[in-house]
Amino acid sequence: MIIAPTLFQRKPDTDKLSPTMGTHDHGADAAAATGVSAETEAPRVLIGRCHEIVLKGGNRWRFVEQLKRNLLGVFADAGLGRVRAEGPRILAELPARASDALACERAALIFGLQNFTISRPAPLAMDALKRAAIAAARAHPARTFRISTKRAEKRFPLNSMEIDREVGGAVAAALDLKVDLENPELTINIEILPQCAYLAAGKYPGAGGLPVGVTGRATVLLSGGIDSPVAAYRMMRRGLRLDFVHFHSHPLVSAASREKACDLAAHLTRYQMRSTLALVSFADAQREIVARAPRPLRVVLYRRMMLRIASVLAGRAGSSALVTGESLGQVASQTLENMTVVEKAASLPLFRPLIGMDKNEIIVEARRLGTFETSILPDQDCCSLFVPAHPETRARLEAVVKAEAEFDIEAMIAGAVARTELVRCEFPPRR
Ligand code: ATP
Ligand code: MG
Repeated sequence: MIIAPTLFQRKPDTDKLSPTMGTHDHGADAAAATGVSAETEAPRVLIGRCHEIVLKGGNRWRFVEQLKRNLLGVFADAGLGRVRAEGPRILAELPARASDALACERAALIFGLQNFTISRPAPLAMDALKRAAIAAARAHPARTFRISTKRAEKRFPLNSMEIDREVGGAVAAALDLKVDLENPELTINIEILPQCAYLAAGKYPGAGGLPVGVTGRATVLLSGGIDSPVAAYRMMRRGLRLDFVHFHSHPLVSAASREKACDLAAHLTRYQMRSTLALVSFADAQREIVARAPRPLRVVLYRRMMLRIASVLAGRAGSSALVTGESLGQVASQTLENMTVVEKAASLPLFRPLIGMDKNEIIVEARRLGTFETSILPDQDCCSLFVPAHPETRARLEAVVKAEAEFDIEAMIAGAVARTELVRCEFPPRR
């Protein structure tokens, strides 16, 4: 499933972007000095910028390496050229076959980037910068523009403001455009780095957060509903690589929730490139609970069984925490008392990233994420099966433990684990 990215500030004009940039450089000396060839079309470079704070500590190396791996992964079908870090920037050479639009779409999926540009190198010489900026402005028709320079290489003789002014003057004169510092239609970003300069038309917001994989691995209980995909997204954004587990009661009910879980897992895989979804047959465990336990406790007992089974699957996958989409007080099973009793069945830490969110806020996020439309498709969640008219809202641990004494819990877990199917998701999909 491909979801149109909504993060773009400005859609680049793929065909027209900078075809002439860097090609008519008369500053031959500067070109020779910087290694940027004046004669050949320089490759586009995706430049991602990271939040400097996370780059200061001892984990910088891990952060950068993970970010590089993730970038290589998200462009696996197009094949990135060299990827390297330079200060708070990650520079990745884009292959010719990756259009600007595709590059933007993919880069927007990578957690850890605050923003990014599709840039082209230019020699470190004013006349070359001016020509490149004029070419960039010509390729992006606009009435007003500004130049925004960052001079990381302080040995460059002009400071950022002077570069802005001189290059801006040249662009305005060449193309008869107006400079607007407050609200320009086009911003041309110039970065002065030690080897060469980079120019880009526009800058795109990144996904923020931390690179997936950098903080560890967890298992998310993914229903077909609205909340758990949002919970998953939030934890991936904090750098967790996720495994997905979905419980279904097929054939007691239709396979709809399984299909939704597969679609949602595939969609979320775009952020981490590879995922495994465990589809757990829960019907037998539910039959046992329905046959032996007091009616009002059913949902609490379902949930405890889910957490036990998920804990075993997580252990096998090397996950060290569980994640759910619960939010306090949202439904009967999410009262403080019930959640307290439910979480005791987990043998790993349980994260509930949506705990303090309103349903409306979760829906806004699900829409933005692109999971909402799938989540609202009709299905029958296994937990809606045999639900009593008056479920317990204040379960007590003693009563629950007493009810569970009627079951062979280990056998129920082993049975469910044995009947689990694994579905693998990959992004970008292999042809
Ligand atoms: P969601 O929209 O995520 O389904 P919900 O508001 O429907 O949430 P519940 O049905 O009470 O809430 O589920 C709470 C959490 O329990 C879910 O967010 C999910 O993490 C987990 N969960 C519920 N049903 C399943 C299921 N069938 N498979 C996996 N996890 C589930
Ligand atoms: Mg649900």
